Amino acid sequence: MSTCEKCWEDAHHGPYADVPANYARLMKERKSNPCTPEQQAGPEAGECSGCGGKTLHQYTGECMAGCQVMNIELTALLAKCRTISHEVEAKAEKTRKVVRHSDDELMSIIAGHKFEEIERDMVRLDTALAEAEHFLAATTEPKGE
Ligand SMILES: [Zn+2]
Ligand SMILES: [Zn+2]
Repeated sequence: MSTCEKCWEDAHHGPYADVPANYARLMKERKSNPCTPEQQAGPEAGECSGCGGKTLHQYTGECMAGCQVMNIELTALLAKCRTISHEVEAKAEKTRKVVRHSDDELMSIIAGHKFEEIERDMVRLDTALAEAEHFLAATTEPKGE
């Protein structure tokens, strides 16, 4: 859990001499009415690609609004891989048709073997993508409460 940057800053002005003690007191006091995610993330916070807020904690990079940015980016990346995989498949299919109608028998045989290899690779790629998607689905769960 990342430190609330606002409370940490406020803790420098508390009644105790040491900041951690003041911070602990503030955390307790503000428990039912906590700072906004932006305040928690600090003045140097980054922008979250998940919720669009300036909520990425300035030191830890955690989205204080609870987004799992890593998973959001991974999901986008996987979707991209899927698109590429479909494009390659479509191209292979097109080329296969051309070769099938070719008069050169030797070329057709060689190309046929090559396509079998490509098809095996595509199956492996599909399996790997499915595994990654499965993993992602298992780890993408609402955070907290
Ligand atoms: Zn706070
Ligand atoms: Zn966010």
